Amino acid sequence: MAVKPKAFKELYAKAAGRCAMCPNYESVFKDTICSVEISNKNMSEVAHVIAQSKKGPRGEDGYTGDIDDYDNLVLLCPTHHKAVDDNPSSFPSSWLRAKKKELEQWVNNSLQLDSRRNSDVNALRLLMKNLAFTRIRAQCDDLPDSFDLNFFDTGTTLDNFPIDLPDARPFYDGVLEAKFSEFEKSYRELSWILSSHIETEKKGTISVYREAIQRGSRYYVPLNKGELYAIEESFEIQNEIRARREKFLNCYVELMKYLRFNYPEIDLNSYEPYQW
Ligand SMILES: [Zn+2]
Ligand SMILES: [Zn+2]
Repeated sequence: MAVKPKAFKELYAKAAGRCAMCPNYESVFKDTICSVEISNKNMSEVAHVIAQSKKGPRGEDGYTGDIDDYDNLVLLCPTHHKAVDDNPSSFPSSWLRAKKKELEQWVNNSLQLDSRRNSDVNALRLLMKNLAFTRIRAQCDDLPDSFDLNFFDTGTTLDNFPIDLPDARPFYDGVLEAKFSEFEKSYRELSWILSSHIETEKKGTISVYREAIQRGSRYYVPLNKGELYAIEESFEIQNEIRARREKFLNCYVELMKYLRFNYPEIDLNSYEPYQW
């Protein structure tokens, strides 16, 4: 069986002839765009998310639909097609599907009516004025040892965002909405554990972190080591904080990359701290 011409046309059109993995979404045909006939047998640019054979790339994931139909195909340049088929374990099917979706969203965004995109852009602009977005990593990078007290400001800004702009969410851009939701959720999970208290049988209630201490113009909040080490859960708590920090920073970087690439007109560094 081979990829049906109809499936190929749909795939090619929705991807606007771009490789889903090439940086800056270069055309799959690169310099040779005029010399290649779409209808010829040169289908090497169409990769199967899940291979036809169980022994093929990602074949063990199983697939119940038509393996040669649009849903199971992704448009790739020959270089990336070889990469994903030679190393299927490094490129799982869920990852390939996400890449395909991101590219199609990018095509949509590029063609979208200005009004919808403008709505997202205006909301993001307002948000970035109130969010110290580019400082967030430095604020929590030393966890689980300490963090910057300003880390909690992000939570306040995220609380106020839907109050100030009730129509901003969900964003029209679906991938942006998904990445932003992940960012917010993982932030809440991390900030919650940092502000919570632990009930212990012998010691009563202890807080994970001590009072903030001033260092220059910054306020650091060190781990409450003396009291924490006295309880059995100490290691678990630290590992949990470490895991949540990792998760959060991944989501943060994903969102930042997406914004930089798809919304270059937004200044991620436009935070204006409120002046008293
Ligand atoms: Zn490529
Ligand atoms: Zn293949």
